[in-house]
Amino acid sequence: MNFLEERIMKDGIVKEGNVLKVDSFLNHQMDIALFDEMGAEWKRRFADKPINKILTIEASGIGIACVAARHFDVPVVFAKKSKSINIEGDMYVAEVESFTHKCKNQVIVSKKFLSPEDHVLIIDDFLANGCALQGLISIITEAGATVEGIGIAVEKGFQLGGRLIRNLGFQLESLAIVDAMDASTGEITFRKQ
Ligand code: 5GP
Repeated sequence: MNFLEERIMKDGIVKEGNVLKVDSFLNHQMDIALFDEMGAEWKRRFADKPINKILTIEASGIGIACVAARHFDVPVVFAKKSKSINIEGDMYVAEVESFTHKCKNQVIVSKKFLSPEDHVLIIDDFLANGCALQGLISIITEAGATVEGIGIAVEKGFQLGGRLIRNLGFQLESLAIVDAMDASTGEITFRKQ
């Protein structure tokens, strides 16, 4: 078991509805030493990629992306969730359906911060059905930039997103892949990587 899997076993809570609660260390209270270890691991896995920018999505991706960025020495851009329908033309826009909140959000990134010269690493906390990632990928593609890879903390391997993204040919590096979890027993099974 790696360091993140061990932490999930210790402090993660399996909820009904296929939700894994990790708010004591990942997406509410944040363990920065753990984030630093995650950043170092992504740096190792993407060592050969010419990454010059990290893109994430608010809110829970931001902390992880910022700590990871110290290992890549690059800026972080986060896609903002916006309810407004009057989005000005200087924004890239994508529609993202939230797995946890079951609602649709437009996410926006200013055209000032993504351009064809950018080689982007996407970072996020969770991968479930892959909607958030597809939105970020479409924004990067629209900007004419390159997706160099995707770093995810926790992939729920029993949902569709991981297979979908890998089938599109992206290098997807999830630090923990949960293949099964049971809310009644609290049991969590990780994929051997
Ligand atoms: P997707 O777009 O891949 O369906 O879902 C990804 C987003 O949903 C993540 O950014 C994360 O915020 C949220 N999410 C999905 N599954 C879980 C989960 O089991 N636990 C938590 N805490 N968030 C989740």
